[in-house]
Amino acid sequence: MKYSFKTAEQLLKLCKKHNLPISLIAKRYEAERCDKPIATVRRKMKQARDAMYEAVRKGIKSDEKTETKMTGGDAKNLFKQLNNLRNMMGNKVTVRAMAYATAVGEQNANMGRIVAFPTAGGAGVIPGTLFSCAEHFHAGKRKLLRGMFTSAAIGLIIAEGATLSAAKGGCQAEVGAAVSMAAAGLTEMRNGTPEQCVHAAAMALKSYLGLVCDPLGGLVEVPCIKRNALGCMVAIGASDMAIAEVESYIPFDEVVGAMKEIAEIMSPKLRETALGGLAVTKTGIEIKRKLGLI
Ligand code: SF4
Repeated sequence: MKYSFKTAEQLLKLCKKHNLPISLIAKRYEAERCDKPIATVRRKMKQARDAMYEAVRKGIKSDEKTETKMTGGDAKNLFKQLNNLRNMMGNKVTVRAMAYATAVGEQNANMGRIVAFPTAGGAGVIPGTLFSCAEHFHAGKRKLLRGMFTSAAIGLIIAEGATLSAAKGGCQAEVGAAVSMAAAGLTEMRNGTPEQCVHAAAMALKSYLGLVCDPLGGLVEVPCIKRNALGCMVAIGASDMAIAEVESYIPFDEVVGAMKEIAEIMSPKLRETALGGLAVTKTGIEIKRKLGLI
């Protein structure tokens, strides 16, 4: 296949050879892989974008608590702060990004419809980061799609070289991967070069290596939703660093290799089993009791 890639090195070579941004290589690869016209691939991504918008829209208005009462209503609280930014240390972009990411996480926890991009647990970071930044620089829907395709390309490389499964690699594979994907997508939306996109992805992912999966009661609520919100901060920061020409000293493919190695040596207690970390704190045990798990 003409546009096939499994590593960042291969992806960057394709970008150079065809003089195209990452998003267009990713789109062409997907069309080739599924044997579908590019228009079909674009339409599917638009559907994903619209579903993500819908989750954000519902989430920022919702007061609904989950059955466990552990989460719910925080997206609305954060979104309200946009009218009172003097109270916040973050700016409009970052507070809104956290609100949007939380909205998606809360919709997920309340059985709403979300897009697992790349997974349900990490589904808030990409819409949070990309939508909020797109609003800031008045990016059209087309540019947003470019960001999403670039994010997808980075997700593919992580899936090929390591994993996107928390059961295999802990939260570095869910929220960590999502932050890395969002950092790259945002960088392309800001007209960063393919190299800058990949540096942003590497810097973001390095910050999440070793992050364990330790959800209370095994539910994707705590610490998941807040990890998504705060992940937007890292994605925006990594993109800013890349745009400022800061480079990752370690190439992205090597970071992915390190992630794989860490996943292999991570205790099963810290890989989605709720047998370690925050899941076995006093509060975590209380939740397990409430849920009848112990
Ligand atoms: S803690 Fe586990 S369940 Fe929660 S977002 Fe991270 S990987 Fe997913």
